[in-house]
Amino acid sequence: MRDEFIPTSAMAIAAHPDDIEFGCAGTCAKWAKRGARIIYVLVTSGNGGSHDATHTRETIAEIREREQRAAAEICGVHEVEFLRYNDGEVMPTLELRKDLVRMIRKHKPEVVIAMDPTRMYSGKEYINHPDHRAVGIATLDAIAPIAAMPLMYPELGPAHSVREVWIQWVDDPDTWVDISDTLELKVRALLQHKSQVGDEMAQRIRDWALQEGKGLAPAEAFKVIFLKQRDQPEDKAPDGQAATMTQGA
Ligand SMILES: [Zn+2]
Repeated sequence: MRDEFIPTSAMAIAAHPDDIEFGCAGTCAKWAKRGARIIYVLVTSGNGGSHDATHTRETIAEIREREQRAAAEICGVHEVEFLRYNDGEVMPTLELRKDLVRMIRKHKPEVVIAMDPTRMYSGKEYINHPDHRAVGIATLDAIAPIAAMPLMYPELGPAHSVREVWIQWVDDPDTWVDISDTLELKVRALLQHKSQVGDEMAQRIRDWALQEGKGLAPAEAFKVIFLKQRDQPEDKAPDGQAATMTQGA
């Protein structure tokens, strides 16, 4: 498994509280343990995510933000940002793109973990949530090229070039992270989302992780896009884009 790489900083951008725990929390926890600064950005607070009619959108959002913060804390995440778009109504608008550029320029991540904008359905039994696709599109659009272009939204701060984009929940991964030492953190983090999942999910997560790692080790899988090669220093950007980030790994 290709698991030696540890970024200095990473930002996971997801649609709903619990998306990160299902997808990449083991990797985030592993990177955090090894010194990376980890930021979560949640586009919605999952304010439609309840079958209980006694909830309002406000009360369920409050619960789910609390659950998300608890999950992040378990994994050693440094900060959680909520953009508070409405659950179930996310579109890849210019407004969302700009909000994500703001997040990227504020936190200057070396790596962004994104949702897959191309995943419409998977296998014979799963249609992807439209918010996931919309967030995936807006994330990639914000990274390349907008966040790196100094003339675009100068009011949002200096341009920032993300070096790598790791797409989670992909059907054709090319990179696997061994999460042997953070699998139980991932499980505990997911179980913080009590409004969404029950304890029975713990074993399913362990089984899925082992399946993802082909039975060799529990793993999380990604497709990685290298916008900068790992041996390419910041000051030799060939594309003339602003190179304002602090020194990468
Ligand atoms: Zn989701």
